Amino acid sequence: MNVIFLGPPGAGKGTVASKVRDDFGFEHLSTGDMLREEMKTGTELGKKAKDYVDAGQLVPDELIIGMVNNRLEQAKAGILFDGFPRTVEQAKALDKIADIGAVVNLDIALNIVVDRICSRRMCRDCGGIHNTHWGDTDRCPKCGGELYIRNDDNEETVTRRYQVYTEQTAPLIDYYSAKNLVHTINADDTVESIEAQVRTVLQDSAE
Ligand code: AMP
Repeated sequence: MNVIFLGPPGAGKGTVASKVRDDFGFEHLSTGDMLREEMKTGTELGKKAKDYVDAGQLVPDELIIGMVNNRLEQAKAGILFDGFPRTVEQAKALDKIADIGAVVNLDIALNIVVDRICSRRMCRDCGGIHNTHWGDTDRCPKCGGELYIRNDDNEETVTRRYQVYTEQTAPLIDYYSAKNLVHTINADDTVESIEAQVRTVLQDSAE
């Protein structure tokens, strides 16, 4: 089964995905992580994407769809899509290449995500996500790698990303509701509680 995690920046998509993926045998496909890797290694795609990502805008659909298509050529079923699709155009492209079994919609208000994002740290080595509210450290608790703040994790950019989400991505809730696939979870909760609810949705959807 393929699954989509939908929700604004800071809803916990990446955090929860990394906690459940192994138990359910999912391959975790995060378009944000893929773009950060392309930018880090300085590929053509990375250069084209950088200004959009830094400004909190969406990278054009054709670039994202091309990148995902390439990745899916090597993948088997059982993909957890994190941060993709983000537009109806992307969802239509995905319909042509993969069946979706469930859409987990992590619902959260802007004021909460601003606080979460401004205290978020990423690991340079394993790509893991940390939050200073979970413990004040400059080393990744999982692998000891150096933690850094993403360029786009500041109040101004996150406010723009939330607005972009509302305008361009939230319509996907209706798109997938029409296919009876959406499970909405209140993401203003502890990681443990959100994770438990997501596990229930994944178990029920797999049956
Ligand atoms: P994320 O790590 O999911 O928050 O993504 C970081 C940034 O990468 C976003 O703010 C966008 O600029 C870009 N991005 C990631 N996924 C997509 C997508 N599916 N479509 C367009 N842009 C994307």
